Amino acid sequence: MDRYFWHLSSAQASGMACVVCGADLMSEGAAMVMVGRDPATETQVYACKDPCAVGVAVEAEHMAAELRAMTGTEAHSQDASLGQDGEFASLLRDMRILVGNEALLASITDVATLLFLLDLTEHHAGIAAARARVVHDRLRSNEPDGEA
Ligand SMILES: [Zn+2]
Repeated sequence: MDRYFWHLSSAQASGMACVVCGADLMSEGAAMVMVGRDPATETQVYACKDPCAVGVAVEAEHMAAELRAMTGTEAHSQDASLGQDGEFASLLRDMRILVGNEALLASITDVATLLFLLDLTEHHAGIAAARARVVHDRLRSNEPDGEA
């Protein structure tokens, strides 16, 4: 997506610093992803992969949720009792981000944005897989016959 980030420092606008936290992305080992463009120059700008780009993704997910609400395809709200389980709630949140990504992936054609969304999908799918395992194991260990 050609999302514009405003009020950037020169380092941020030239893609050398995170547009969210301002960290130096040129330092060795910095994991970053393209998140949009500088409006003045159209230069691609970047954010730390985690947590900054994840925060950008959550924002994008909120935007996707608003779009879904407007199109009448809003997901059902989660079960309140299950939602009290922090890990389970986090799992649902990751999955909602994946659903948001699915909607964006289906509608976007530029390669840079697709690569960004695929990065996010990999990230959240990995976290969701780990959380699903934790919840699964915990539910099994709570079974009356003690099977684990
Ligand atoms: Zn950052």
